[in-house]
Amino acid sequence: MKRYVITGGLGFIGSHLAERLVDIADVWVIDNQASNVVDAIPGTKLILDDMAVADWPEDIDGIFHLAGPVGPVGVLSWAGKIVPDVIRCAERVRQEAIINDCPVVYVSTSEVYGLQEQPVKETSPRVIAAGSSARMEYAVAKMAAETMLLNTDFLDVRIIRPFNVAGPRQSEQGGFVLPRFMRQARSGEAMTVYQPGTQRRAFTHVLDIVEGIYRAMRLGKQGEVYNLGNDLNECSIYELAREIHDIMGSASPIEIVDPTIIWGLGFKEAPDKIPYARKAMRELGWQPLRNRSQIILDVLAWNEATGWARG
Ligand code: UDP
Repeated sequence: MKRYVITGGLGFIGSHLAERLVDIADVWVIDNQASNVVDAIPGTKLILDDMAVADWPEDIDGIFHLAGPVGPVGVLSWAGKIVPDVIRCAERVRQEAIINDCPVVYVSTSEVYGLQEQPVKETSPRVIAAGSSARMEYAVAKMAAETMLLNTDFLDVRIIRPFNVAGPRQSEQGGFVLPRFMRQARSGEAMTVYQPGTQRRAFTHVLDIVEGIYRAMRLGKQGEVYNLGNDLNECSIYELAREIHDIMGSASPIEIVDPTIIWGLGFKEAPDKIPYARKAMRELGWQPLRNRSQIILDVLAWNEATGWARG
């Protein structure tokens, strides 16, 4: 049985990855519980510590590196600390990968493309926005960590760039739109579509993303970068609000609002984000299977099952 380490394995994506692997591998989760976390997946081994200084297990066959600050609102309180933290964690990952002579799957972000025209391929140039917002610091930090890992001799790293992941266990705390709209729709509060409402995203089910991450470990090639996102799920944010509203039979009004009134001037909107993920399909045999309404229904079912306590 292979031994895998998942950094950030108590987070939204990490916990689903742990669940995907727990029956077929010896899964170790390292998580310092800095962001919103879920209960540990039964059968996994848990190290509750800062991954950069924790005692890691020995004889590791692969590292999935997911730990880090997340979410456009979640990163605001990390401004000025995102770059050093992301690099510090990436340094430890590289050290452990070299000691164990094992591959790393680094879960980066579609944010690295910045203001690039959509859809984006792995080879598209990255276009850095003016200014120094926390969102930009996050993108730059992830880009720097990717580059550092890719440039390390004798390191087998495969990079994943996920696009707007959504699904059960995603917390509203990072600011993510789906859990937020669903809570608002349920409570009858106004659904806050940030202006202009025409901005476009392609939401991808967390179970599809997790499958892609695992395939990158099994089938990915050293030094390769893979976009993971479901372009068939593309919509405007206003359309998303309407869809959630209708599926839930909500009585909430849908309002167009200025997000900086809610979150302050530090909040920055990203441009449209549309993935071009044919490389992962071709080289990893990856295929996203779940459409947007399936994502909404799965999150709804999970919220009902947990009494709307976690979302
Ligand atoms: N959004 C919104 N209302 C909200 C929260 C988010 O209109 O209450 C929008 C946000 O402006 C963005 C999209 O939903 O255009 C996706 O936001 P999310 O934070 O989930 O991810 P992002 O793609 O911005 O990183």
